[in-house]
Amino acid sequence: DRSPVSVIGLGAMGRALAGALLDRGHPTTVWNRTAGRAGELAARGATVAATAAEAVAASPVTVICVLDYEAVRETLDPVAGTLTGRTLVNLTNGTPEQARTTAGWAAGHGVDYVDGGIMAVPPMIGQDGALILYSGSQEAFTAHERTLGALGTATYLGEDAGRASLYDLALLSAMYGMFGGFFHAVAMTGSEKVPAAEFTPLVVAWLNAMIAGLPAMAAALDSGDHSADDSNVEMQAASYVNLLDASRAQGVSTELVEPMGALLRRAVAAGRGAGAVSSLIDLLHTDHAGN
Ligand code: NDP
Repeated sequence: DRSPVSVIGLGAMGRALAGALLDRGHPTTVWNRTAGRAGELAARGATVAATAAEAVAASPVTVICVLDYEAVRETLDPVAGTLTGRTLVNLTNGTPEQARTTAGWAAGHGVDYVDGGIMAVPPMIGQDGALILYSGSQEAFTAHERTLGALGTATYLGEDAGRASLYDLALLSAMYGMFGGFFHAVAMTGSEKVPAAEFTPLVVAWLNAMIAGLPAMAAALDSGDHSADDSNVEMQAASYVNLLDASRAQGVSTELVEPMGALLRRAVAAGRGAGAVSSLIDLLHTDHAGN
């Protein structure tokens, strides 16, 4: 006895979500703005709704995953009345503010709202390795936790609807930082014709060794104790200049690596040269509405 679910948005991700629900035996109703994207899902047993309202009406819970929050609003504003008394799970990528605004909109229409962030690519959906972050209504999350488990490992982060987006975007920024470092590293070795496939195993081993140090950095941040001096900031600022000089000499753009060099210089100028590099994170905080 699997509960019915509706999925709105049949892009690469929406199709994967609907497919995972079908795999687990959930009666699944789908709708997409542009018709004709549900063919394979229909062949696997999905019901194709003619309108968004029809999709929402078919299930106690609707999962929406479209391009952005503007698309969410355009799609759901006209069907708010049909959503009343049901649960909306919004897995569209957006900002914490957009999530909170949508939670307010949902509350105004008597819709139970759960926001989410998908930390996976479509082929991972439905497997335990797909992490999906949720925040918002705890009651709605708990009621549908087993259903959401069909999509991946469901992690609930609390009642603030914006929290999942915050974590999602923070994790993405860590990923892009890693990509940036990798791209630059491979461009440097590539400038002397080293095949990327030959160099990359060393990158992977090195990054894994460095990743092991992140919890210690977190502890330093939380305690405010950046006194560790085995790899102090001044030393790192000096060797970073070599990294930049060598990149230029090898004909590699420094655009991905300049910002860290600038931050190291700023830390030295701020008198943090003798401390641990974890102290750089403190320099990133600027004023915002919430502090
Ligand atoms: P796609 O580009 O494959 O699909 C976009 C979807 O959004 C389509 O269903 C499209 O409908 C719909 N859409 C766009 N604009 C509107 C609109 N104004 N009104 C109604 N529907 C609209 O994107 P994905 O499926 O890959 O991504 C969907 C969400 O999932 C995004 O927020 C993305 O950031 C997130 N995500 C994606 C990942 C990925 O690797 N693919 C990973 C993690 C998160 P139509 O067919 O009519 O154009």
